[in-house]
Amino acid sequence: MISRIVNILSEAEKFVSSQSSGRSAMLAGLKSRPDGKLLRIAFMASLKNSPYGAIDSIMDALLIKKGREKIKEKVINLYLHRQFAANDPLREYTQRKWIYHKKQLKHILNKEFYKITPVTVDIVPSLECVQNCVVCSNVDWRVNIEDKGWFNKRSRERMMTRRNMFRIIDNIRKGGAKAVVFTGGGEPLTNPNTLDGIAYARKSGLEVGLYTNGILLDEGAIDSLIKSSLTFIRISLNAGSPMVHAQIGGYSISKDYYNRVISSLRLLAEKNRGSGNRCTVGIGYIVNPWNVYDIYLLAKTLKKIDADPRSSGGIAYFAVRPSIVHRNYRGGRQFGEHVFKKAHEIINRKVIPLLKNTGIKVIEVKSRFLAVHSREKPFDRCLASPMFSLVGPDGGMYLCVESYYGHKRCRFGDLTKERLDTIFRSRKHRKIVDNIDFRYCPPVCKMYELNKAFDRINKTDRKTIGYIRNWFMSKSPGRPPAHVNFL
Ligand code: SF4
Repeated sequence: MISRIVNILSEAEKFVSSQSSGRSAMLAGLKSRPDGKLLRIAFMASLKNSPYGAIDSIMDALLIKKGREKIKEKVINLYLHRQFAANDPLREYTQRKWIYHKKQLKHILNKEFYKITPVTVDIVPSLECVQNCVVCSNVDWRVNIEDKGWFNKRSRERMMTRRNMFRIIDNIRKGGAKAVVFTGGGEPLTNPNTLDGIAYARKSGLEVGLYTNGILLDEGAIDSLIKSSLTFIRISLNAGSPMVHAQIGGYSISKDYYNRVISSLRLLAEKNRGSGNRCTVGIGYIVNPWNVYDIYLLAKTLKKIDADPRSSGGIAYFAVRPSIVHRNYRGGRQFGEHVFKKAHEIINRKVIPLLKNTGIKVIEVKSRFLAVHSREKPFDRCLASPMFSLVGPDGGMYLCVESYYGHKRCRFGDLTKERLDTIFRSRKHRKIVDNIDFRYCPPVCKMYELNKAFDRINKTDRKTIGYIRNWFMSKSPGRPPAHVNFL
């Protein structure tokens, strides 16, 4: 009976988090379902954000009179365990990592979202790039509307100086963050200080990850990265052939960047394997109409690398996500659903079987594929943004790269001068979070799942939140997932 009630609660929860426009149809459809009456009761109670109250209503409907408190406790325990602690198949992509950060968790469960300071900070060391991708997620600020182009700005604002990089890392560490990711902006390795910055961050005790397009990943860079013992390196490789790579990257095919990246990947896998796989090396693939058929071609290349005894096991995953079109391209109109359906079909029919017996895990980031065409956001505020932040080459802090980077009025601090925690407690930061206008946000972003969870918590009634808080205090959420410090 306990798990029957929990199943009903979980299903009702799914209805609540779906788009409000589809809810009346769902309610109508409940009549014909087994447990339809109970589902309807749970759904109505969940709409009031009271799972605790929903259990009472379900027990009333089931005419349970005896031992109600005990049943309720068991139901809530199992429900929360499933929601927050059960093994998640997506593991390193799960947004449940937040429950392992006690300091932040306390503020979240007290609904004091403004008191949160980031666990992870993205460092943008450079705005330069060797490619010029049409669907670059950073196009918004690389061709910054407000300032009529960063190209007119002084170089300090386009390329982080060595001195500033070290200062920024110090202020991040002192400010309580646990990890940094060197990322775009532009390509992080175009900055000659990036490798030293990574080594410095590691020595300071921070975990480090790197997103790179792999074009500048020569043997010297690979040796330095392996020595620094990064937690992960993700190569963004959005093609399986030289032609498509050049087409998407906006460069002349004569530069032969694709083959250069594949050779670097092979060498990285080999050296990573040689070091005992200390680093998680993965491939990030963003699907769009030009490269959808290349997914399988790239999978074949990855299989070959994995089949080579020198590099076998050196690549951990192949993660596929949809391209999100930003407002400076196609007026923000997303690519058609048929593109992503095709990708889903190729991944499931061909890529997963092909890579089944290799060490390469195929990850289709489903939440993003599902949300890319949604019209409504399943949350009304970006409460999760303080968990994670972004610093530009000049030390300026911004909420996220997706929407607000580079806009002067959205800059809320300078990490070359102040500590991370001081910046996050400032009035300016609070003002910016309060004034986020979702019209400028893409349909789905890095904080999407986390925002959904925080929004639900924010709207949950006091009694239930009290129970959840006690539950967290008394229970261990289990072994943390891999890369727990990278939100
Ligand atoms: S919801 Fe908007 S402001 Fe918040 S992280 Fe996403 S894109 Fe950035």
